[in-house]
Amino acid sequence: MWGLTSLLLVLPLTISYSQHSPPTPAVEVTQAGVTVRLFSETLRQGRAGLLSVSAAAEPRAVFLDETLTFFQLQGDPTWYALIVAPLNQSPRAYPLLVEADAQTLSVPVQITSGGFIQQNVIIVSDMGGLFDRDVEDAELARITTTARTITPTVYWLGRGFGHPIETTLTSPFGALRTFNGLYETIHTGWDYNAPIGRPLVASAPGRVAFAGHEAIRGNYVLIDHGYGVFSGYAHMSVVYVTQGQLVDRGQIVGLVGSTGRSSSAHAHFEMLVNGQWVDSTDFINSLPLPR
Ligand SMILES: [Zn+2]
Repeated sequence: MWGLTSLLLVLPLTISYSQHSPPTPAVEVTQAGVTVRLFSETLRQGRAGLLSVSAAAEPRAVFLDETLTFFQLQGDPTWYALIVAPLNQSPRAYPLLVEADAQTLSVPVQITSGGFIQQNVIIVSDMGGLFDRDVEDAELARITTTARTITPTVYWLGRGFGHPIETTLTSPFGALRTFNGLYETIHTGWDYNAPIGRPLVASAPGRVAFAGHEAIRGNYVLIDHGYGVFSGYAHMSVVYVTQGQLVDRGQIVGLVGSTGRSSSAHAHFEMLVNGQWVDSTDFINSLPLPR
């Protein structure tokens, strides 16, 4: 932990950060009373980053052709937004354009390589229908479309994000997987080693946006944490929540299983920000979030 004193010198009002956050913004640009702050120096492919703007009126900002949605926290006049480096975005610097209080600021954001691995997966059981590009694309489209919803509530405020189960992580986010040497997909989340029947819990407070069955993800739950942040729980044997239900961090959403495109019991956990897949472990461990 770092001292609160240094924070008070930097930010106009008292807010605190999670213990994993850096003590000061990595990048700070000020122009005629408008200050833009980035909380990480670079953004790896498949990562989310936090930015803030200190301005009198709500800013407008665009990054990679996406208009950002700003949010404010009670008692804090700072405007916050999340930006995302998509998994397949070519590594180089891209401008973040911010318009606020009649000023226009352009802040370069360097996207770096995600360092994703390649995996060969052999599946011996009959899962023919689950290696169908149309089935997979339709499922991905349903999830990313839902995850572009902007619910104007910061459900995670004061609670942060945690792992859905305490166990070892196996297959990583972003891996390019080739099934039986023929079918390629990108792994959208992390796999957790767990036997059938172990509880999976909500990573953070939120509202259940989907609870049901998907061909590849099997029994699946998608939770809306507000302002474009979503978490997904796949391959479950049983689902305990229903669409529209409010859940708290740590609340059981279902049990580990092996439904959908899964060769053995495990948990698959994934996160999206603004409809883009992001590395959930990075979001849980490293991303500084206002609390
Ligand atoms: Zn997985």
